[in-house]
Amino acid sequence: MSWDNTNRARTSSREHVARRKRVLARDGHRCQIRGPRCIGTANYCDHIRNVASFANPADAETDENCQAACKPCHDQKSAGEGVSARATNRARLKLPPEPHPGLLR
Ligand SMILES: [Zn+2]
Repeated sequence: MSWDNTNRARTSSREHVARRKRVLARDGHRCQIRGPRCIGTANYCDHIRNVASFANPADAETDENCQAACKPCHDQKSAGEGVSARATNRARLKLPPEPHPGLLR
């Protein structure tokens, strides 16, 4: 039984499209991330706190947790979140750190 992705699928795409429109209108279609490759005009709805960091992923799906973002910024943030989400999950599971190779006997 898989425990992941089940909550994420519950948000209907219609709801997601409506929130994206609200968030883009609220932020004036201007990217809020302003990263190094920013093009200024936002067409994406970005999760300020990434979905994976919420105990209940549905809690991430609010207007307050969303901001307008352009594609380069959104893509870059998403790529970075893959790494930090894995580190967060590792910490949450209280996995021991990798033993230093020099300590192996
Ligand atoms: Zn941007």
